[in-house]
Amino acid sequence: MNHKYVCIECNKEFEADFFKLKCEESDYSCFDIKYYKSNANFPVLPSPLDIKSLGEGSTPVVSFKDKFSDLGDFIFKLEYFSPTGSFKDRGTSLLLSKAKEVGIKEFVEDSSGNAGASMSAYAKNLGMKCHIFVPDQTPLNKKSQIKIFGAELHNVPGPRQNSTIAAKEFCDKTSIPYVSHNYNPYFIEGMKSFAYEIFEEFNDRITDIVIPVGNGSLLIGAYKGFKELKNQGLINKIPKLHCIQVEGFSPISNKFMNLDWEFDVNSKTLAGGIAVSDPPRINQVIDAIKESESECEIVSEEKTLSWHKEIASWGILSEITCAAALAGTEKLLNRGVIGKDSNVIVPITGSGLKDLSNVKI
Ligand SMILES: [Zn+2]
Repeated sequence: MNHKYVCIECNKEFEADFFKLKCEESDYSCFDIKYYKSNANFPVLPSPLDIKSLGEGSTPVVSFKDKFSDLGDFIFKLEYFSPTGSFKDRGTSLLLSKAKEVGIKEFVEDSSGNAGASMSAYAKNLGMKCHIFVPDQTPLNKKSQIKIFGAELHNVPGPRQNSTIAAKEFCDKTSIPYVSHNYNPYFIEGMKSFAYEIFEEFNDRITDIVIPVGNGSLLIGAYKGFKELKNQGLINKIPKLHCIQVEGFSPISNKFMNLDWEFDVNSKTLAGGIAVSDPPRINQVIDAIKESESECEIVSEEKTLSWHKEIASWGILSEITCAAALAGTEKLLNRGVIGKDSNVIVPITGSGLKDLSNVKI
């Protein structure tokens, strides 16, 4: 074992235990993974672990500098090139490889769609059965994708949070383990490859990364990856990791800006991947935003949908969720947070083919 668990709230350290999702000593907070110093070689991953890959990561980058002539560069990292069409495959690969190692044969997960499809694919490949709980309003293509890989799909009426509650109840009833990509820290470790790849491609040239945030796994993973690179002297500064949320689903941005947050169950958005009202790692996301000297923005549904169409006119079909990051980029540019000559990356987190049926064309 080259790592242990550390509670994100009380900082107490524990032996790594895949089945333990929360620290009982601090109001049930999540764990992060901490490595023993002697093993901290780049890349830093749990070892020994036989990591199952289906070809995730190493996603292409494409420059749209011509669209923002004041910027040094404006780059999309096309995360939808991963095997199930979203960035989640980075985390799933590591999470389910670890699940296999500890002997899990059947598990429960909840998702807005992308993580569910990803978990279903890797589970099938690794010989595990899974139950995926999704909100009823999840686009049909995402539900079909979850089913074709072999998972048992459970539709849950109401907002995203209801799927989490239903999944936990099902676990209590059946004693099948809950392998949650939001609670289990191995998922975040898989996300770090996003930062490693940006470093390998651009060295330390990138100044700003603009990320659509629901639960924040990509933002936390990117922060951890860049911090490791900095600690090892490979970069001097962590790029800014800006957090973009949509109106009605902005618990992280509100807390960052010291604004009260109360979820209105009638809130709706087509940016389903970030329609999260109660992210369990909220304080860890906020720490990453502050420590990287970054900002939060809350964008409107209208702007999100207009940016979705705009980048389609550039030849990029993203999921609607991701277009929120473009609307956020526009606000950050207008505020001067992203300045002239900045080199900006936006991850195109998922394929537009997954929710195309929701788009008015
Ligand atoms: Zn704790």
